[in-house]
Amino acid sequence: MFEDMRKKVILIGLDGATWTQLDKFLQEGIMPNLQNIINSGVRGNLKSYFPFTSKSSWLSILTGANPGKHGVPHLGTKETKEIPILWEILSEKNIKNLIVNDLSMYPPLKINGIMVTGGELTPHNSKKFTVPSEIKEELDQVVNGYVPSLDPLFTQLLKESKFKEAYEIAENYDKKVTESFFHLSEKYDWDMLSMMLENPDILHHHYWDKPEYLRKFHLWVDSILGKIYKLSVEQNADLIIVSDHGGGGVNKHFLVNTWLRDSGIVKFEQHGKITKIMAKSNLRQDVLRKNISKMHMRKILSKITPDSLKKKIPLHSDESSFVDEENTKAFSKMYGTITINEKDPKKYEKLRDQIIEQLLQLEDNGEKVVLEALKKEDAFNGPFVNRANDIQFLLNEGYRWSPYLRDEGYLLNNEKYGDLIRVGDHRPEGIMVATGPNFVKGKILENMPLGWDICATILDIFNINIPSYFDGKPIKEIFNEKSKSDTKNISYENKPIKNKVEEEYVSYTKEEEEEIEKSLRDLGYI
Ligand SMILES: [Zn+2]
Repeated sequence: MFEDMRKKVILIGLDGATWTQLDKFLQEGIMPNLQNIINSGVRGNLKSYFPFTSKSSWLSILTGANPGKHGVPHLGTKETKEIPILWEILSEKNIKNLIVNDLSMYPPLKINGIMVTGGELTPHNSKKFTVPSEIKEELDQVVNGYVPSLDPLFTQLLKESKFKEAYEIAENYDKKVTESFFHLSEKYDWDMLSMMLENPDILHHHYWDKPEYLRKFHLWVDSILGKIYKLSVEQNADLIIVSDHGGGGVNKHFLVNTWLRDSGIVKFEQHGKITKIMAKSNLRQDVLRKNISKMHMRKILSKITPDSLKKKIPLHSDESSFVDEENTKAFSKMYGTITINEKDPKKYEKLRDQIIEQLLQLEDNGEKVVLEALKKEDAFNGPFVNRANDIQFLLNEGYRWSPYLRDEGYLLNNEKYGDLIRVGDHRPEGIMVATGPNFVKGKILENMPLGWDICATILDIFNINIPSYFDGKPIKEIFNEKSKSDTKNISYENKPIKNKVEEEYVSYTKEEEEEIEKSLRDLGYI
């Protein structure tokens, strides 16, 4: 009888949530609802993966695959995912989705159901963050002006050390998201219900050293989890709570470009006179862009500003120094990665090997700074590996990546680093909690599943075959006997990665094909 019942799943994403904080508040007794959920189900760690940033990690959780396959091995807006996400796979099987504050992409997808995007990928003033589009007006009415992402004023207030005011901005965003979530989940039908909250991560970055704020936040999160748990019980739904990565405190900043320069690995081009003046005068790309568009001068200016000049203006408002990318052999401009700018394949490999070796040897008072450093093709697999930056690395706990070029050295403590200090940073161990009709009770996970196992697990609950390209596998350990999922074999459906992947792969010219064939033959592969 059980298997004939309609399956329902609730997936809650808490960006950057970590047991390091949660356990503190569980022990203090201010998270009784989370305690209840853990007691009634399973608790464990969920391991994140390179590059350990949010967009990429959420996409792994939702696509069931590593970034080399889903196509976004880094942060930013440059590339979009190349394979279906969970909501699309479910839509194909006529399963109804209700998704609020999806942090993995923008704009929202046309799925069977409702999708609302949010977080850093959704512009704060966007009007196109819901599918269907009418949902935006509905949410505006329900919460008196919906907020799809954190107000940029947040950062401004932090720069002025107005922590209380900044916290209120973050709180406002969360409250509107959760209120909308409960409103929609009551009003509309769903089989798959999901909500993600970005704030645990944002607060870790800026409030890790301010426990009073974190306590207040977790107290609030617990009240929300209590309501969600009640909903899951009423609806006989499985409830899964995950984070895309964990979090930890920061004591020192590893200024990667300064290290590359000072250790003599690469020569950084001297900044030109204009660049120096710009840096000194605080003229930065975002400020410049803003003013240009304000004056409706973008077109005119693009004609008179040479491209090379544009590239020399720092990208971020809090970037006090920067790299002349065109003339530097290796540099770091994205979280936990290094780009090698060397066309000669032999020199490229030599430089890459050397940097990886030196990263792994790097010590600070006898302690290693870097935990892991890999070539992109060793970190990822799939057709989009080459979108990744050449070296991927993970720092040890307490250290944070920084792209700055400074004269004071490459390992700076918070005080010396100054600027907008991030007191917390991502860690690889995220969280996972699961409770519901399909899951065992009172268990601590023995293994550490990877983010992409979540997608496979949810497909398994809905009795959907796992696409063959998946890296993720259903987490069998969490299922009870009644669920059937704990014993049945995983059924795969042969599905190659489609769309652009094929285009890219078939887009060789005849000469190129022959050339590849020849070199493979020479190497003895064919
Ligand atoms: Zn995140």
